[in-house]
Amino acid sequence: MVNEYGEALDKNGYAPSVLQPGDMQESCFLCGENGEKLDRHEVFFGSAYRQKSKRLGLWVCICHGKCHLWGEEAVHNSRETDLYLKEQGQLAAMERYGWDEEKFRAEFGRSYLED
Ligand SMILES: [Zn+2]
Ligand SMILES: [Zn+2]
Repeated sequence: MVNEYGEALDKNGYAPSVLQPGDMQESCFLCGENGEKLDRHEVFFGSAYRQKSKRLGLWVCICHGKCHLWGEEAVHNSRETDLYLKEQGQLAAMERYGWDEEKFRAEFGRSYLED
């Protein structure tokens, strides 16, 4: 399987991350540490966009507890962290796929860039 941009998908449907190259996936995208098991987090994880996030490489490896699920600033606990990752994801997608903001909005429902 490949996505519409020719990137091979792994058996779980993930394209290579456009945010975090393979050699950087040894440490957490958010805090840079690697003391915990790292989870894959789909940046646009709502039900409508999770599969598209995987297929377009819009995912990062982050600490299972502190940065992903339970910490005060964990992405599933903190709207601020969530919006930060979504902005980074949008910028990476626009650069990698040559999208403008309107195209991004058409793909993911809204833009996360700050005015
Ligand atoms: Zn997640
Ligand atoms: Zn972390």
